[in-house]
Amino acid sequence: MRAQHEELAEQKAELVELRLDWMRKRPDVGKLIKDCPTPVLITCRRKEDRGHWLGTEEQRMSILREAIIAGADYVDLEVDIAKSVPRYGDTKRVISYHNFEETPLDLNEIYEQIAACDPDIVKIVTMANFQEDNIRILELVRSANIPTVGFCMGEFGITSRILCGQFGSPFTYAGFSRNREMAPGQLTYAEVRNLYRFNKITQDTKIFAVVGDPVAHSMSPLLHNAALRKVGFDGVYLPLRIPEGTLTTTLKELERLNISGYSITIPHKQEALQATDISDNESEEIGAVNTLFHKGGQWHATNTDCDAIEQTVLAGLKNIPKLTGGLSDKRVLILGAGGAARAAVQAMLRNNARVTITNRSRQRGQQLASEMECGFLQWENRSTEEYQVLINCTSVGMHPNVDETPFPGHWLRESTLVFDTVYNPENTFLLKQARERGCETASGVEMFVHQAAGQFAIFTGQPAPREYMEETMRRAMSLGRR
Ligand code: NAP
Repeated sequence: MRAQHEELAEQKAELVELRLDWMRKRPDVGKLIKDCPTPVLITCRRKEDRGHWLGTEEQRMSILREAIIAGADYVDLEVDIAKSVPRYGDTKRVISYHNFEETPLDLNEIYEQIAACDPDIVKIVTMANFQEDNIRILELVRSANIPTVGFCMGEFGITSRILCGQFGSPFTYAGFSRNREMAPGQLTYAEVRNLYRFNKITQDTKIFAVVGDPVAHSMSPLLHNAALRKVGFDGVYLPLRIPEGTLTTTLKELERLNISGYSITIPHKQEALQATDISDNESEEIGAVNTLFHKGGQWHATNTDCDAIEQTVLAGLKNIPKLTGGLSDKRVLILGAGGAARAAVQAMLRNNARVTITNRSRQRGQQLASEMECGFLQWENRSTEEYQVLINCTSVGMHPNVDETPFPGHWLRESTLVFDTVYNPENTFLLKQARERGCETASGVEMFVHQAAGQFAIFTGQPAPREYMEETMRRAMSLGRR
C-alpha cells in the first residue's frame, strides 16, 4: 500500500484514499499514516457496501476512531454510523452514501440526512442506469452548500465521474490500476489525470462526447483528448453510453450539461439525423450522420466519414503511378451496403468515379445502388470484373474474426488500391493478402483519424493535429488499448 501510495505521490496525486478493508491483517493505523507522502483519506468499507472488511463492526469502528486519533487528514464514515463517531482533532469527516443499484429520486433528502451528521465533505455515489442519473447528481453537487463529491458508478457514470469537478466537487475518485477497481466503472488515476485531465476542467471547459452503445472501447476519447491537449484547447471529450432508440430524448436531457459537440457512432447514426435542427446535404444524401455540433443556438448534423473516405482513397491513389488523375472515371467496387458503404458511395460519386456496389444481402445492395444511381453486382459474382479501387465497407475481418476476408486474395489484381475501412485490427487479412499480391493499400486507421480530425476542426475551429492523432492511435493499438 505504501509503495503504491508513493507512486501516486510521484504522479502528483493530491489526496490518497487508503482502503484499510483491502488489507489482509488489521493494520497499525498510526504507523500506516505516519510520514505519508500525501494527505490521506482513511476508509474501511463493510461487505454490504461492497467493501472487503472481514472483522466485526465493532473492530471496524475502533479502527476508524484510531485513524482519527492518529491524525488522519480525512476519514470516511457511512451516513448510518457517522453520528456515533464524534469529531476529534483536525481530521475532516467525509460522510458517505453509496447505492449500487440506482440513483434514487430523493437525492436531496439523502444530502440533508448527511448534512445533519456534521460533515466536512458530503459524498454521494450512486449507480447510473441512464445518462439522466448523471445530470441529477451533478445538479445536486452544484446546488450543495457543503462541499459535495457526487457522481455515478457504472458504464453510464463516467460522465459525472469526470464532470463533477466542473459542478463543484472538490475531488473525484480513481483507482490505482485496472486490477484495483474499487467500484464499478471506476477509471484509473492515470486516465482521470492524463486522459481526461480532471484537474484542468473549469467552468469554461468545453465538453464534447462520443455517443454510442457499446462505447466503452471507442478510440475516440483517446484521440480527441490527445488532440485537445496537443493544441492547448480548453476542452474534454467523454464516452457516453446511450442505448438504441433513446438518442433523441437523451440529447434533450443532456442539454442541461451544455455539451458543445458529439461524435455519433453505432447504433445512432440514422437517429441522429432526426434529432437535429439542421443537417447538410451530405448527411441527407447518405442518410446518416457522425457529427453533431451546436452553433447559433441550434444543433447541426454532418458526416465526416465521407470526406475521410475521400481523403484516404485519394492519398492511396497518389502512390500508384499508373493511376493518375484522381478518382475521375476510375472503376470502384464497394463491398457492403450499410452506413460506411453509403458514405463511400457518396465520396466516390462526387469525384466522378464509376461505382459498383456488391452486398451479401442482395435486396439491401440493390436498393442502395438504385438510390445512389450506381452499378450493382451480386455478392457471388464480385470477382468477375476488374476494378482500380476496392473498398471493404463490411465488418468482415474485424476483431475477433481476423482470419476472414470479404474478398479472397487470389481475386485481387496487382494495380488495385485496396482500402479496408475496418480498423480493428489495422492490418486485416484483406490488407495482408493485398500487399502479398503487390497491391497498394489504405487502412481503416487512416480513415478513422481523418473522420476524427474533421470533427475536431468543427468542434474547436482549429486544424486538427492529424499526424499526432494517427501516432497516438497506432501507439495505443500496439499496446492493445482499444
Ligand atoms: P452496418 O451498417 O452494420 O453494415 C454492415 C455491412 O457489413 C453490411 O453490408 C453487411 O451485409 C456486411 N456484412 C456483415 N457481416 C458480413 C459477412 N459475414 N459477410 C458479408 N457481409 C457482411 O455497418 P457500418 O456502419 O456500415 O460499418 C461497416 C464497417 O465499416 C465496420 O465494421 C467498421 O469497421 C467500418 N467503419 C470504419 C470506420 C473508420 O473510421 N475506419 C467508420 C465507420 C465504419 P448485410 O447487408 O448482408 O448484412
